Amino acid sequence: MAQIEQLSPHVADLIAAGEVVERPASVVKELVENAIDAGASAVAVELRRGGMGLIRVSDNGCGIAPEELPTAFLRHATSKLRRPEDLGSIATLGFRGEALAAIAAVSRVEILSRRRGQDGAASLRLEGGIPGPTEIAGAPEGTAVAVRDLFYNTPARLKFMKKDSAETAAVAGLMQHLALSRPEISFRFSKDGVESLHTPGDGKPESAVYAALGRDFARTLLPVEGRGGDTAVRGFVTRPEAGRGSRSMQVFFVNGRFVKSQLLTAALEEGYRNQLMKGKFPGCVLFVTVPVTAVDVNVHPAKTVVKFQREKEVFDAVYHTVLDSLAAKSGAVQAPRAPEQVSLPRRDFFQTMDAGTFRKRAEQPPARPRTAPDGERRSVTRVADSARASGGGYGMFRPEARQPETAQGPAPVKEPAAGPVSRQADLPPERQTPPPVRREPKPGLEPPAPPEKREERPFVPAIPAVRTGETPGQQVLRPLAEAPWRIAGEVLRTYIVCESEDGCVWLIDKHAAHERMNFDRLKAGTEPVMQQALLTPAAVELGREDAALLLENLPLLERFGFACEDFGEGTVLVREIPADLDAGDAAATLEEFAENLRRGRSLDEKRENLLHTMACKAAIKGGWTSDPAELKVLVEKVQSGEVRFCPHGRPVAVKMTRYELEKMFGRA
Ligand code: ADP
Ligand code: MG
Repeated sequence: MAQIEQLSPHVADLIAAGEVVERPASVVKELVENAIDAGASAVAVELRRGGMGLIRVSDNGCGIAPEELPTAFLRHATSKLRRPEDLGSIATLGFRGEALAAIAAVSRVEILSRRRGQDGAASLRLEGGIPGPTEIAGAPEGTAVAVRDLFYNTPARLKFMKKDSAETAAVAGLMQHLALSRPEISFRFSKDGVESLHTPGDGKPESAVYAALGRDFARTLLPVEGRGGDTAVRGFVTRPEAGRGSRSMQVFFVNGRFVKSQLLTAALEEGYRNQLMKGKFPGCVLFVTVPVTAVDVNVHPAKTVVKFQREKEVFDAVYHTVLDSLAAKSGAVQAPRAPEQVSLPRRDFFQTMDAGTFRKRAEQPPARPRTAPDGERRSVTRVADSARASGGGYGMFRPEARQPETAQGPAPVKEPAAGPVSRQADLPPERQTPPPVRREPKPGLEPPAPPEKREERPFVPAIPAVRTGETPGQQVLRPLAEAPWRIAGEVLRTYIVCESEDGCVWLIDKHAAHERMNFDRLKAGTEPVMQQALLTPAAVELGREDAALLLENLPLLERFGFACEDFGEGTVLVREIPADLDAGDAAATLEEFAENLRRGRSLDEKRENLLHTMACKAAIKGGWTSDPAELKVLVEKVQSGEVRFCPHGRPVAVKMTRYELEKMFGRA
């Protein structure tokens, strides 16, 4: 082996440079972080040839004195770290004192700087880390660093550079994150002379989100805010119905620094449990703040990895902040101006709350509308307000912070009476359900019935919609050719058990069968759509984008039995709904319609999507108690062969022969 020698400073610099300067994006990151640390309120980044030609970062920060310019480029030269103890509480972004030295070692650098409040500016050029003389120059206050010919002296690394476009994309992503993390700083980014990002720097996170991530994404966001222990969480998350195809729009910051963290991703997604369609991911821009001593950002030189001291606390803080804001949102459907509230809780309402909150809410008397008599509407942004009002923290999940929800929470108590009364009157007495009993507040802490036992329904529309010339509830069923199947009963409130003449046992999924019937009927479009007028019109808050989508497609909605109108601020006023839809499902149906419309590329595709949603929403559901007459209709449809598969292609019925049963019992 060769003799042991100390590396020459130049080689040492090159090795260190490799750690810090991997690609143009790492240069930009270091230079912009320096600008931020220098207190800049405006930072401009210019890129040519993906950064391989030129990277220029200019700021209006504190600047560097002429005599300090060469010092800034020495290894381990920093103004940010003085004592070993400081390592534990790093509040600035850079601290290793390595970046400028490392960048200079592998490129040709020119720096031009003028200290704030000083007259003289100076410039310095370095080539491969070797500085030239400091020269007097003219420049505005602040610093501009230009990096040219990156890796010109390290051909091995140059070979590994990706295409210019890939490098540009990496820098563009980085600029987005930097801009989001500092809404008080105005960022500009241009590539090959074309500006692609410009944030106002007005200090408003929503302005930064809008400018950096685009209008369409910004419109799908809900503001969130919460706190748990020493961890504070604020920012924005996507509405559940605006789920995305990937995790690319999950942006997390810890103490202002962009990070990638499986823990944070998991906490976010846990908050959406049961609310997102399969294969969809939430998007977010979340700012997590923990005490600087409770996080180690120094575990990786690129510093996008964090290590939390109290992982569970951070997880819980993020999870509950997301969960609570989604729960608040899902109860945000309000009746305007009427004294009686029409509450349209989302179908999955009970799944979005922890048991404690659910229990508390169930004990509250039905809520009065939160809306002021003058018709003031809640807007999306008030979700954050209500979180603050309920104790600043998670409010809803911390028992001690929990307030009675009647005054400040949406407390969506189901009151089905307002919905389908008109239809009720049409039904023969035996098909009418008694008026719903309002749940009175109970003194004790008796847990309410679990969600799956929810039975109160205004009416169960299992009988297929009216055929032309018939009145509702008076259906003449075609006599079947063969002897009808004997209905032995219903099990698990979901499956109808039947026996056919040839000695077979049939299990029919009642929801799937009814969904198929609805689908075929709607698709044929030969029957008039029955509507029910809501006694009190319901205001459904959907967000501007979704509301606009629905309002653009009113004729389509009318074909399905909805009469809606614009109520402003992303809210749609619903006056009529399809007769066979539970009023409690109206809001969720409209939300899904918006998603259907968004995904449909042609009118036909949109119509087909709506059809699927409507068929499903109007179908009786597993878990609901059904009338024997309804079950009979379903069984006859299955027996006649008219209904075989649900619209998604799943079977509606399964058959077991006597032989199969006997085999199971060891008789055959
Ligand atoms: P670090 O940022 O870790 O301290 P750098 O090598 O990035 O190390 O920078 C060295 C020093 O140069 C900084 O500590 C700071 O004092 C000064 N400096 C670098 N960039 C700027 C800038 N844009 N404005 C003002 N001072 C700067
Ligand atoms: Mg630095």
